[in-house]
Amino acid sequence: QLYNKVLELRGNIRVFCRCRPLNAKEITAGLTMAIGFESAKDGELTVMSNGAPRKTYKFDSVFGPQVDQADIFKEMVPCVTSVLDGFNVCIFAYGQTGTGKTFTMEGTKEAPGVNFRTLEKIFDLIKERQKIYHYDVSVSVLEVYNEQIRDLLVSGSQPGISTKRLEIRQAGEGINHVPGLVEAHVNNMTEVWDVLQTGSNARVVSSTTANEHSSRSHCIHCVMVKGENLLNGECTRSKLWLVDLAGSERVAKTEVLGERLKEAQNINRSLSALGDVVSALATKNQHIPFRNSKLTHLLQDSLGGDSKTLMFVQISPNENDLSETICSLNFASRVR
Ligand code: ADP
Ligand code: MG
Repeated sequence: QLYNKVLELRGNIRVFCRCRPLNAKEITAGLTMAIGFESAKDGELTVMSNGAPRKTYKFDSVFGPQVDQADIFKEMVPCVTSVLDGFNVCIFAYGQTGTGKTFTMEGTKEAPGVNFRTLEKIFDLIKERQKIYHYDVSVSVLEVYNEQIRDLLVSGSQPGISTKRLEIRQAGEGINHVPGLVEAHVNNMTEVWDVLQTGSNARVVSSTTANEHSSRSHCIHCVMVKGENLLNGECTRSKLWLVDLAGSERVAKTEVLGERLKEAQNINRSLSALGDVVSALATKNQHIPFRNSKLTHLLQDSLGGDSKTLMFVQISPNENDLSETICSLNFASRVR
C-alpha cells in the first residue's frame, strides 16, 4: 500500500543501485573499494578516488557488495504483487559488462536471481489467492541483437542469426504484439525452470564467444499473466518484462571496425533510447520516443501509463572502472 502511494508520487519509476564485490583478482592486486556505502540505508553511495570521497549519488535503494539476492528480492515483492493485480511491470539491469547484471537477473543455482524468484513468488501468490482468483501464466524468452528480435524458445535458434525475423505489430489501442513469438504455458516452477533453461541454452549454443555475445545483446523474459476474479468475473491481463541489458561500456574507437562497429552503434542506440524514454516518463514529458529502438518499441505498452519500472544500475567497485561507473550513475540519475 505504502509502496503504491510512494510510486504514485514518483511517476512509477524506481532506481536501485547494486555494486558487486571485489573479485579475487582485484583483491590479489591489492585494490580496495572505490565506492563507499556508509549511507546505503539512506539510499546513498559515495564515489571515492585516491581514498577521498568525491561525489555522492542518491537512489531509491543502494545495495553494497554484502547484500544478498534474497534481501534484494524482498524490496521488489510489491512490484511482483502488482503484476497479479493487473499492472504491467518492467525490470531492467543496466551497467558495464562484468558488474553483475546477469548475476542479479539470472543468478546462479546456489543464489538464484530476480527471474527465478519473481516467478516463484508469482506461483506462491497464485496459490494464496486461489479461492478468489484464477490465473494463467506463460513465459517468452527473447533476445534483441543488432536491432533484431530472436525467439530463444524456438529450437535450432543460433546466436546472432534470427531463424525467423520477428516483428512488432500494433494489436490494438496501446497494445503491442509480436506475432509468432512462442509463449510457453507454465503451471509450476519445474516447468518454469525448463523454459528458463531452454532459453539460456539457446543463447549460448555452439558459441565460442558466448560471453561476448551475451554482453552485446539484450536478454528478455516476458511473463504474461491472465487473471480472473471468480467472485465477479472481472478479468485482467498483464505483462512482466525482465531485461538483462547489453553492456553499457563504450568501446575504444580504435578497436571498432566492421561488425563490431555496427553492434556498438546498435547497443548505444537502444540504451540511449531507453534512457530517453524513461527520463521522458519521469518528467511527464508529452512526447515519449518509443519508436527509436526495437527495445523501447517492444516494451512500449509496459512503460508509462500505470505501468511500473524498476531499473537496477549495476556498478563495479574497481577504481580502474570509475569512468564507466560514473557514466552509469549519471544515466541512472537521469532516469530517476
Ligand atoms: P554482467 O552480466 O554485468 O556482465 P555478471 O553477472 O556476469 O556481469 O558478473 C560478473 C562476475 O561477477 C560473475 O562471475 C558474477 O558471478 C560475479 N558477481 C557479480 N555480482 C556479484 C555479487 N553481488 N556477488 C557475488 N558475485 C557477483
Ligand atoms: Mg551478463
